[in-house]
This record gives sequence, structure tokens and C-alpha cells, in this order.
Amino acid sequence: MSLTVIGTVALDSVTSPFGSLEKGLGGSATHFSASASYFTPVSLVAVIGEDFPQEHLDFLSARNINLEGVQKLPGKSFHWKGKYEEDLNIAHTLATELNVLLEFQPQLTPEQKKTPFLFLANVDPNLQSQAIDQVEEAPFIAADTMNFWIEGSRQALLNMLKRIHMLVINEGEARLLAKESNLLKASKIIRQMGPEILIIKQGEYGALAFYKEEIFSAPGLPLEDIKDPTGAGDSFAGGLMGYLSKTGKKDFESIKQGIIYGSVMASFNVSQFSCEALKNLSETQIKERYETFRNLARF
Ligand code: AMP
Repeated sequence: MSLTVIGTVALDSVTSPFGSLEKGLGGSATHFSASASYFTPVSLVAVIGEDFPQEHLDFLSARNINLEGVQKLPGKSFHWKGKYEEDLNIAHTLATELNVLLEFQPQLTPEQKKTPFLFLANVDPNLQSQAIDQVEEAPFIAADTMNFWIEGSRQALLNMLKRIHMLVINEGEARLLAKESNLLKASKIIRQMGPEILIIKQGEYGALAFYKEEIFSAPGLPLEDIKDPTGAGDSFAGGLMGYLSKTGKKDFESIKQGIIYGSVMASFNVSQFSCEALKNLSETQIKERYETFRNLARF
């Protein structure tokens, strides 16, 4: 099957204790697509500015990602600037320059309108809703968001949430969205907003999935090699949705498997800056790390 994603394709400036990156390849949809492309055909809906380097588009094309839905508009690309502390779980956004995102009106191609799986990566919730407006064949829809939109565009976000099946957010975002610090209570409040499946990412500690009365806990893999956590959440969602699209399934058991594939992809993503680690993975590397995850929680 195939998977369509709308989100940001960005230039990121990142500083971590292990180095820095100045206007490198980033964006929620970029990390998502690169990760999902190891599982399924991916088609992208996004906007870039005139300053966006061709080499980044070449990388996405080389991963077989369909770029027909990527618009180039006059002006600068979306630019995010962030900094991580010694404790890499602590991230600070230093600047969010929306630039061409402010003019963007997503237009799905005829093929994207028929997509069986749609992922609304982190972007303005109004744009996420505009993508949902255009789909024609009731796809499985999942979404991500972040504090920038939870605080700045709450009503638009609530409107979008009513229309999706699954939400994938991190712990802090879940508390902020639900206005509730207890995660179990927050999970119920959020699912009442629309999505029947909620996945809460806990950074290096793993992820929790909530569906009806069930809770699934995926482990976090202790890693020695973390340089840049940017895109961990997006590559996690890419592995998860990529696996679902590959198998054509969306039941909770398949989602659990997908969460492990998502964790595998995120663990690679954070080992290098930008999308470098997602450039040339082999199937064997993915399979071996999947087994490592299985053994981690088996008793
Ligand atoms: P993650 O680390 O998975 O939460 O995602 C990081 C990516 O999200 C970066 O590559 C940024 O370009 C992108 N990003 C940062 N802020 C925003 C925002 N407000 N809306 C959409 N994408 C964003």
C-alpha cells in the first residue's frame, strides 16, 4: 500500500553537546518520509522556499519518495532553530520562522487523494485539516503536533483531532493538550477529543500506547551513540506508519509491532545530525535492531 504525509520540509539549525548544524536538512515530514521509505512507498505534501538546496530534494528522490506534492514558493523555507542541553531530553526552541509556510495551500495530487494511509506530521493544524478535506477514500489517519500549535492554535487543533484515528505525541505535549499531569487521565481526555488510539512517546524511555482499556509499553533502547535527537519523534512515526502501510493493517496488535519498528528507526535517526543516519540503512540493520528491542522486554 502507500502512505501520504503532509508536514514541514525545513532548514534546521541545531546545537547539541556533540556539535552543531547550520541550515541543514530538517522538517517533520522529511524525517518521517525518510524513515517510512524503508517500509513502503511514500508521497509527500509540503512547501519549500527558493533557498531550498537541490541536494536535499535529490536525497528524498533517491529514497523513492514521491515529491509531486511539494510546492516551491517565492521566499524562504521554514526554518527551525533549536538547542539541546547536556541532558538531551531537554530541548529549547530558539526560533521558528514560518516563512513560506504562511502562504502554503496544500494541494493533494489525484493519487494522494486516494491514499489508504495518511499521516499529518507536525505542522499548522489548519493545514492538517485541509489535507483531510481532500482525501476521497476514508484512509487511516494519524497525526502529530507540538507545544507551538497546542498553545498557539488550540481550536484549530481540536477541530483536526475530531477527524483522526491515532495521535502520536510526546509526554509533555500530552500533558499540555489534556491540561492534566497524570498520564493515564490525560490519555482518556485526549481520546475523548477524537483519536481512539493514542501513542505517547517518552524520549529515551520508550513509548506507551492506549486503546480502549489496553495499554502497551514499548521499551527504550539504551544507546551510546546519540548526537542529535531532532526528528526522533518523526522517524518513530515514520517507522510505525511505514510498517502499517506495508502490511495494510491497522489493528492494535499491528500497531504494537509498528511501535517497535518506529523505535528502531528513531534509534538510528538520533545517532547522527539531520537525516544522515537514514541515508543508507540496510534491511539487516533494521531487522537486527528489531530483535534487540524484542529481547530487551522479553521475560
Ligand atoms: P521532532 O524532533 O521529531 O519533534 O521534530 C523535529 C523537526 O520538526 C525539525 O526538523 C523541525 O524542522 C520541525 N519543526 C520544529 N518546529 C516545528 C513546528 N512548529 N511545526 C512543524 N515542524 C516543526
